Amino acid sequence: MTHAIEPKAGIMEIAPYQGGASHAEGVSDVVKLSSNENPLGPPESAREALRKTAHLLHRYPSTDHMSLRQAIGEVHHLDPARIICGAGSDEIIHMICQAYTGPGTEVIHTEHGFAMYRISTLASGATPIEVPEHERKVDVDAILDAVSFRTRLVFVANPANPTGTMLGSNEMGRLAAELPDHVLLVLDGAYAEYVDGYDGGAKLVDKRENVVMTRTFSKIYGLGGLRVGWAYGPAHVIDVLNRVRGPFNLGEAQLAAAEAAVRDREFVDRSRAENARMRTWMAKALAEIGVMSDTSTANFVLARFDNADEADACEAHLRADGLLVRKVAGYKLPNCLRITVGDEASCRRVVHSIGQFKGQDG
Ligand SMILES: *Cc1c(COP(=O)(O)O)cnc(C)c1O
Repeated sequence: MTHAIEPKAGIMEIAPYQGGASHAEGVSDVVKLSSNENPLGPPESAREALRKTAHLLHRYPSTDHMSLRQAIGEVHHLDPARIICGAGSDEIIHMICQAYTGPGTEVIHTEHGFAMYRISTLASGATPIEVPEHERKVDVDAILDAVSFRTRLVFVANPANPTGTMLGSNEMGRLAAELPDHVLLVLDGAYAEYVDGYDGGAKLVDKRENVVMTRTFSKIYGLGGLRVGWAYGPAHVIDVLNRVRGPFNLGEAQLAAAEAAVRDREFVDRSRAENARMRTWMAKALAEIGVMSDTSTANFVLARFDNADEADACEAHLRADGLLVRKVAGYKLPNCLRITVGDEASCRRVVHSIGQFKGQDG
């Protein structure tokens, strides 16, 4: 049905974002491995900081997020003046599209790239341009080939979701260097902390004027429900984003809990180590039952099946067992399932259940 009141061009092309499943028909005690959440839960330090904000909820929050930006700057050795915070990195992605794109401009994302890039691009009235990947890995030359005078942004997640693959710093540096001056490269570092010693692209940001890095508290920090993300970029980009940012886009509870979490390095180190241990175990155990995956650098494994029907049947089998994983046909990976690295018991259960499925199947 058409209405006399219509949204601007592009809005009705947006397919609403599909989150990971959180319940299964007829199963009360489900294991959720569909949204890349930290199996350790939120850090106690963040819960404690959040509780302390309860008596201040009648006050408007800080608009400049100074205290959180300083904490992030100290921990990551970055200039707080070039950090901006948002309601998840989703809001930052949205602000970047709002500020830099519009009708008649193009935004490049890759074949299996994160859904929000396309959604935020269409919401701003711009045209998303999808470029191929090579064997589930971002292809720098394919991106460069797609650039035109209309291109404003290029989105690359590193590590990437849902593939779990990663580009090396040489390739990323080459991409930044070879993009024309009018194109901003957005490096999405949602999973950066899972890669030991990786700075998420911060050094590349410092070296150049055309790179911005986004980060989140939703993954390794175990705070997806809190909604806090941030970006680090050149001064001119941060200035632009601050003009489109809502003045009270983060509440005091979010700010306080995120600040405690970023200073809690023990929690991050423990999460990274535990994830690496169980990810290695799970990928190997899956390979032993004939389910292959690319080497993952994040907190999930992209399991490959023979075809889309087998992947769908396996997902249904797991769901009936109370195990929720992510279908990724919407990411052009219909023969794959993305499985979050859970705690040891969940990883063992999911591998066992896939083993049963493969047994009856083959
Ligand atoms: C989970 C994820 C995010 C984080 O989104 P938030 O809004 O910060 O929760 C960003 N990018 C990618 C690729 C992700 O997988």
